[in-house]
Amino acid sequence: MSTTVMKYEEALARFEPVLGIETHIELGTRSKMFCGCPTAFGAEPNTQVCPVCLGLPGSLPVTNKAAIEGIIKIGLALNCDIVEWCRFARKNYFYPDMPKNYQISQYDEPLCVDGHLDVEVDGTTFRIEIERVHMEEDTGKSLHVGGATGRIHGADHSLVDYNRAGIPLVEIVTKPITATGEKAPLVAKAYATELRELVRSLGVSEVRMEHGSMRCDVNVSLMPRGASEWGTRTETKNVNSLRSVERAVRSEIERQAAVLDAGGKIVQETRHFHEDSGTTTSGRSKEEAQDYRYFPEPDLVPMAPSREWVEELRASLPELPAARRRRVQGEWGLSDLELRDVVNAGALDLIEETVRAGTDPGAARKWWMNELSRRATEQNVELADLAITPQQVARIQAMVDAKELNDKLARKVFEGVLAGEGTPDEVVAARGLKVVSDDGALAAIIDQVIADNADVADKVRGGKVAAAGALVGAVMKASRGQADAGRARELILEKLGVS
Ligand code: ZN
Ligand code: MN
Repeated sequence: MSTTVMKYEEALARFEPVLGIETHIELGTRSKMFCGCPTAFGAEPNTQVCPVCLGLPGSLPVTNKAAIEGIIKIGLALNCDIVEWCRFARKNYFYPDMPKNYQISQYDEPLCVDGHLDVEVDGTTFRIEIERVHMEEDTGKSLHVGGATGRIHGADHSLVDYNRAGIPLVEIVTKPITATGEKAPLVAKAYATELRELVRSLGVSEVRMEHGSMRCDVNVSLMPRGASEWGTRTETKNVNSLRSVERAVRSEIERQAAVLDAGGKIVQETRHFHEDSGTTTSGRSKEEAQDYRYFPEPDLVPMAPSREWVEELRASLPELPAARRRRVQGEWGLSDLELRDVVNAGALDLIEETVRAGTDPGAARKWWMNELSRRATEQNVELADLAITPQQVARIQAMVDAKELNDKLARKVFEGVLAGEGTPDEVVAARGLKVVSDDGALAAIIDQVIADNADVADKVRGGKVAAAGALVGAVMKASRGQADAGRARELILEKLGVS
């Protein structure tokens, strides 16, 4: 299936994108939203269920206080107003992974309203207005078996796992995001990144997109430049990584621009993002808007968080990411640009943890921003998803500091750790990577090199000390890069009687 697209630059010259982002975040409470079932990720299917989260007749939900605490913290961190009184609502629809055939959610009475989150792209701050933050419960998970893609198309049967059904879910909805121009994809990614950092700093969720504990739906529409009326939007569902948020927005802009350019109409629909191609395909049409027949949930009392409780929670908020960045910038002595690069690379946590493990900030930043960023790009993954921990980076740097590794050997250790060969020490041992600074071992190599390069050695003896560089090079080569170059030079000059 091929889709016509317009080149991004041309699309942006002619159209102005308007975005909206809905994010679902699973809270990391020990028990589910309305029952006592555990919430651990990855358990055997259907082992964390009970009559309440299976929606069996006669069972009654009870609200999880820790979840309400979590959502209020998120609301406060997003500068929202926490309402004094609100209710849950039933959102009715049929889907196999939703056992009750309704989801307990919130409709016209969300718990948190009117917030904002500032994000920075290339030195410009964009204020993302938050419409609402509401509380709901997650659905179960369908598993489509027998097809190539794991999607329902081509599958021969489907299984359902209700372990996730009833896990507390916070939904965060932005107001329309306008006037971002060609930066729209980057603003979308920056928002998702900042939101993830913010929620993670609160300690209320793991916010791991690869586990589905943070999921973004991205709305995109285009309007001709100079127009005042927004275009029809599409909603790209469950975009599963930060990079994909950016790519999904970009590909929707390119696709919609081509449709509009050819005189076509954008269909209001949900679309699926494909990681492999970086494009979206049509999902379910929303032209006949679904009627969820919302009504107030009769089995639950309203939520009325006292002002004292809200203020207690506000006072308990930790240092938030924006404040933390300012602090770290001062401590590490970074310029605005350097800080921005670190943040954009998703390296702040990693560097901070590496520093905490004993590494000098400059060295920690160097590894993560150069060697490891390059490898992440090669492997097409986020920096944090590389198979190396900050503690391991700190261990490698400690070996460099102890002169057991030089820069080149350290890179080989990184390579080995990333390839799954073990810890830094294991890789050093298995690959025999230690710097040879032992005089005995070096002397044997040097004698051979001097014998093989008698003419060069003579020049050095004759006073051309600069020629010793060639001998040091030969020693490095003979030792496959493992010689301590400084010590080798000293020994060569000593042997040739010119030190
Ligand atoms: Zn349960
Ligand atoms: Mn929702």
